[in-house]
Amino acid sequence: MTVEVPETENAYHTAQAQLRSMGEMLGLAPGLIEILAHPKRELTVNFPVRMDDGTTRVFRGFRVQHNEARGPVKGGIRYSPMVDIDEVRALAMWMTWKCAVVDLPYGGAKGGVECDPSLLSIAELERLTRRYTSEIDIIIGPDMDIPAPDMGTDAQVMAWIMDTYSMHRDHSIPAVVTGKPVAIGGSLGRFEATGRGVLLVTEAACKERGMDFAGASVAIQGFGNVGGEAARLLSEAGAKVVAVSDDRGGIYNPAGLDVSAVYARRQPRGRLGDLNGVAHDRITNAELLELPVDILVPAAIEGQITEANADKIKASMVIEAANGPTTAAADAILAHRGVYLVPDILANAGGVVVSYFEWVQDLQSFFWTETEVTDRLRRIMVKAFDEVTAVARDRNIRPREAAYILALQRVVEAMRLRGTYP
Ligand code: NAD
Repeated sequence: MTVEVPETENAYHTAQAQLRSMGEMLGLAPGLIEILAHPKRELTVNFPVRMDDGTTRVFRGFRVQHNEARGPVKGGIRYSPMVDIDEVRALAMWMTWKCAVVDLPYGGAKGGVECDPSLLSIAELERLTRRYTSEIDIIIGPDMDIPAPDMGTDAQVMAWIMDTYSMHRDHSIPAVVTGKPVAIGGSLGRFEATGRGVLLVTEAACKERGMDFAGASVAIQGFGNVGGEAARLLSEAGAKVVAVSDDRGGIYNPAGLDVSAVYARRQPRGRLGDLNGVAHDRITNAELLELPVDILVPAAIEGQITEANADKIKASMVIEAANGPTTAAADAILAHRGVYLVPDILANAGGVVVSYFEWVQDLQSFFWTETEVTDRLRRIMVKAFDEVTAVARDRNIRPREAAYILALQRVVEAMRLRGTYP
């Protein structure tokens, strides 16, 4: 079967286009590429939730499992009004590559519910989460598919998922989900993990490119779990964070923002808070992406760097902290312009690495110190960065292509060893 993939902003099309071009570069059989171009399993659920005003609303949710050749599948759950099946498919596929790049024994999955969590009360959010968990219960589990937080979900949502799944089985099963609160089997260092991974690859990328990390100017789109932690950690490590944003727009100070003040006043769901006394100019998200900075860190949503603005990006380095922030067409433009880009499947893998640590700790009921978590995270991220860089050098290709090749080789090797059932 051959599927023509048009170049659009659709994340699934971007993910498929990336896979096909890397698969062809590796000389994979067309049949193998077709298997990988489609998720193994997709579940769509429509389920009722009792609202606080007594009415009942029906919500749509998804859980998609892309490939399980290397182990149980893993991936976050996103609550957003924009979630659709194609977005979840793309994110599930990217999880397969991400887990393989950092060499975790997992395949990729992703979930989502079409909803705006900011418009739900805590009680409604809990009922929605518990019912969604009940609906996808048949395909998740600690040996099968282990969800985690993503946009719009957090440690509290993970706690409700863990509790609902456990109630159905009459005993506690903490390893069914990661990103939980530490008090119920979460890992120290998980909240900071994705941002810390972004810091580690940014430092490594600066070394690789001969750029001074200390004082390098950085613009970060998004101030949620990933963007907020990345901003704090990059700034504490000596980079000059000049711009950050939320979904309503950004703030900019070419001399450097007072990140600790902005961080201390952040609001739930990655919203910037009161900025009184913080020197800044207001900018739009579009302006943030085009600022004259050394390093651009998209850390919000996909499809932000497109054919329309790729020519205007002034940063010489892009660290993809969000999933899929660059469309395939924009990626080609950035490459042509010599912009050095650390791809999402490497740059934001710190989250799934510490999720893996959490799962291992839960299965053993034996918990690590934060220093152990951070040291192990550093070893894995630096090793993955070095391996990707070595492939890029050997083959004279870009880091994104190298990361895909490394990941694809590992996934395909597992598929070859396991064979085709029956
Ligand atoms: P979050 O919900 O904590 O924060 C999202 C941030 O993006 C918020 O600041 C929000 O205001 C902003 N935002 C939302 N829509 C926007 C828009 N249209 N324009 C600009 N900003 C917008 O989410 P998160 O967990 O920080 O995830 C951010 C990205 O990182 C996503 O692409 C996610 O898939 C990816 N990611 C997350 C993790 C994780 O561990 N949480 C791990 C790997 C990758």
